[in-house]
Amino acid sequence: MTTSAFPRPSTEAAAALRERLAGAVHTPGDATYDAARVAWNLAVDQHPAIVVDAASTDDIVATVAIAREHGLRVAPQATGHGAGALADLGEAILLKTAALTGVTVDAASRTAHVNAGTQWHEVLAATEPLGLAPLAGSAADVGVVGYTLGGGLSFLGRKYGLATRSVRGIDVALADGTQVTATADEHPELFWALRGGGGSYGVVTGMTIALYPVEALVAGAMLFPIERAREVIGAWAEWCETAPDEITTSARFMRFPPDPAIPEPIRGGAFAVIDGAYLGDAEAFVGVIAPLRDLGPVADLFAPAPISALSQLHMDPPHPVPGLACHSLLEGLDEATIDALVDAAGAESGCALTAVELRQMGGEIARGEGAAVAAISAPFSFFSVGVPLGPVPPEKLEADLERVLAAVSPRAAGTILTFAEHFGEHRTATADAAARLAAAKFRYDAGDLVLATHGPKPAGA
Ligand SMILES: Cc1cc2nc3c(=O)[nH]c(=O)nc-3n(C[C@H](O)[C@H](O)[C@H](O)COP(=O)(O)OP(=O)(O)OC[C@H]3O[C@@H](n4cnc5c(N)ncnc54)[C@H](O)[C@@H]3O)c2cc1C
Repeated sequence: MTTSAFPRPSTEAAAALRERLAGAVHTPGDATYDAARVAWNLAVDQHPAIVVDAASTDDIVATVAIAREHGLRVAPQATGHGAGALADLGEAILLKTAALTGVTVDAASRTAHVNAGTQWHEVLAATEPLGLAPLAGSAADVGVVGYTLGGGLSFLGRKYGLATRSVRGIDVALADGTQVTATADEHPELFWALRGGGGSYGVVTGMTIALYPVEALVAGAMLFPIERAREVIGAWAEWCETAPDEITTSARFMRFPPDPAIPEPIRGGAFAVIDGAYLGDAEAFVGVIAPLRDLGPVADLFAPAPISALSQLHMDPPHPVPGLACHSLLEGLDEATIDALVDAAGAESGCALTAVELRQMGGEIARGEGAAVAAISAPFSFFSVGVPLGPVPPEKLEADLERVLAAVSPRAAGTILTFAEHFGEHRTATADAAARLAAAKFRYDAGDLVLATHGPKPAGA
């Protein structure tokens, strides 16, 4: 990484931040700047004017005020999982909330309050002893706030819906310097916009989310030789049509790296993988999974599991990595699309992507209203990722991403904000929702101070 191309930071803003904040402030040229600007996705090379490591909610409020006074924008970031979708940060303060962790569980109301930088593993650790689960994502170190603002697709999703539906209140530091808690009754338009419209309407300092009782959970994965991908994914797509809402799964072409940390039987291997979670006991699970189990996997790792398994079962990387990705929702998965996908990612394809993934949607994910994105009707979500490490050049991965995306593009049906990892890639589902989001942006941040992924420009009166 070099610093030579940086625009000059606002030295006055940096001085004001250093004077007023408890947290650290980093500007280009500082010895700490390069480490401070790193995102979880190491393939993203972000160059903010200033980086702030917020140490408190007061630091967030002060950063917003100083940015406003000095004509800079503010880009909140918890982990940087979604960093690839941000616009240029040259005129922005990158406001890192990672230090602002903390979860408070209220077992009686089955809710948890999280601070801005809280990650899913912290919530799961706090709720598991109480037999309660949040609508966590597949990776333990994804931020609760960024995930939830963009939709939030969980392995409990088909039973309980998108994470946007489980939000009870959102604490926000607004561009005008005020702090509010948006709920269904207070600031309802802000509450509507933040749930699915992303983080453009203010800096979120905390969030209250619903928890769900889990009496029994079965989670895990089945692995098949990648040569059987056509048969396995075809059977899975058919099974998805009648599967109960208690189960949420994904089907993937996976190529495991030759990493010594990966167990011997799968290290360096290529497989068709079905994984997921079932809300119910092992006995009932046998009947639900039978059509897929009968295919005869080479490994069957489905087993009764603790709640924390929700963020382990998908085998997401447990630490920052570089990732190049593509995504689309799909209106269906017919034989021609599966054939095209097998041609692009199957055994004979030469594909070098780590994962080419189809997530099962439907159930409660397709139901709900009252938020910018309360439901998604597409029955499948497609996402693929390549890791530009080792001998395969990024150009090869980009070509493979283009190829797999072309394979599913005849059934493309929009995007989910959190999975749209490229700037400008996401389009809000309906024109009405897009206009309403632009109006909410105008109402709460007319000066366009907050720079978030896939945000609208303020518009309206
Ligand atoms: C390995 C991996 C696994 C994933 N698994 C899932 C999954 O199972 N389900 C799913 O739905 N998604 C999943 N995602 C996508 C993930 O939810 C998004 O990348 C999400 O944006 C990450 O949030 P973050 O806070 O960790 O990332 P960040 O990059 O820190 O934040 C993303 C964006 O959220 C907004 N934001 C964050 N904090 C604030 C704040 N305090 N105030 C206002 N706006 C804020 C900003 O616009 C920011 O740019 C996964 C991504 C990866 C890389």
